[in-house]
Amino acid sequence: MPKVVTDVTCPFCGTLCDDLEITVSDDNKKILSVKNACAIGAEKFNHTKEPGRVTHPRMRQPDGTFKEISYDEAIDFTARMLVKSRKTLMYGWASTSCQAMSIGHEIAEKVGGIVDNCATVCHGSSLIAIQDVGIPSCTLGEIKNRADRVIFWGCNPAHAHPRHMSRYSIFPRGFFTVKGHKGRKIYCVDCRHTDTARVADTFIQVQQGYDYELLNAFRTAARGGPLPDEIGGVPKEKVYEVVEELKTGRFGVIFFGMGLTHTLGRNHNIDIAISFTRDMNEFTKFNIIAMRGHWNVTGSGQVLSWQYGFPYAVDLSRLDKARYQTGETTSVDLLTRNEVEACFYIATDPGAHFPIAAMISSSKKPTVTIDPHINCTTEISDVHIPVAMVGVETGGCAYRMDNVPIETRKVVDPPEGLLTDEEVLTRILNRVNQLMEEA
Ligand code: SF4
Repeated sequence: MPKVVTDVTCPFCGTLCDDLEITVSDDNKKILSVKNACAIGAEKFNHTKEPGRVTHPRMRQPDGTFKEISYDEAIDFTARMLVKSRKTLMYGWASTSCQAMSIGHEIAEKVGGIVDNCATVCHGSSLIAIQDVGIPSCTLGEIKNRADRVIFWGCNPAHAHPRHMSRYSIFPRGFFTVKGHKGRKIYCVDCRHTDTARVADTFIQVQQGYDYELLNAFRTAARGGPLPDEIGGVPKEKVYEVVEELKTGRFGVIFFGMGLTHTLGRNHNIDIAISFTRDMNEFTKFNIIAMRGHWNVTGSGQVLSWQYGFPYAVDLSRLDKARYQTGETTSVDLLTRNEVEACFYIATDPGAHFPIAAMISSSKKPTVTIDPHINCTTEISDVHIPVAMVGVETGGCAYRMDNVPIETRKVVDPPEGLLTDEEVLTRILNRVNQLMEEA
């Protein structure tokens, strides 16, 4: 008899929807249907039944083909690579649990690795800005129940976080937001008319690269100061009008994405967005939240921060202390400057996101990738270690984009013999300890 698992958390994007219902076969081996998830979330669960899924570690051969090896062989290869290398890049972590991360960090401390996560190519600039000026923020639950002024700046949740708008930011009826969308004013600021802009009440088209100037104008308008006729293609009348509407709201929020973090100004754009948020608190309650992408990239920042004080690009190669310097200890810079001797990728696919020069450099070094699936990175690795999918075939803690930790759950058994990230990393740590004692 198939059974239905309720209140399942989706392990795909930073929204971490926790209301999914998954029907599994009576032997707990197969997912039969996925309810409440968006298309991309459902796909993640459906990937468990992917034909030809890799269930054994694979080692690249001199002719470029892969040969199946045992977990013991893969773990021994990885441990030897880590012990031999004076500086190993340990990148990824966004699609695994906080528990697995902490084991990985222990390995990094032992072998002198550099631990970096996906923030290095997405919201790293947000984290720098938060370190500089702090952040007035709140939870997504508060947005649902209170927010009547919502700005999406340089982000497109209609595609990247499909249920964000229906669960939290636009459509839901909350305790003080009983009218749903009718009781909210939605703004979208972007350089192009996105699908999110289509559902917004007001679309503000800013010229590419002028976000800083426009946010500066918002700050000036909030204080009633003078503005030039037009700012980044936006007439000053529009700026005054929007800022007045924001001031009359009861509870406002800015959600921002990579259209702000990765355009001209980068962390300064976030600085000024946070400063504008702070200014608005003189008139009403206002908050700002980063639209984090990979489901547990926020968790990686949290675990690194409470262990070492820095949220990404943490260099432990000196063994006695943690260092962090954007541009110096960040993955792309390390790879393009050829400053690491080996690469260890866990739960992410830099081959799909990093600049080609960085991946060419990576492909010339001993490389091990831990990931449930074959991806661009596994194909340039010396060893690929397949694992159970966290949040589907094993549980673990993950942080939502608003920094709320949520315990994800196992809904189905992994293919027979497949280990979890935690098990593989623990075995690597034990083997590293053994090798170091022998040396
Ligand atoms: S919005 Fe994100 S967390 Fe929610 S179901 Fe879709 S992919 Fe999963």
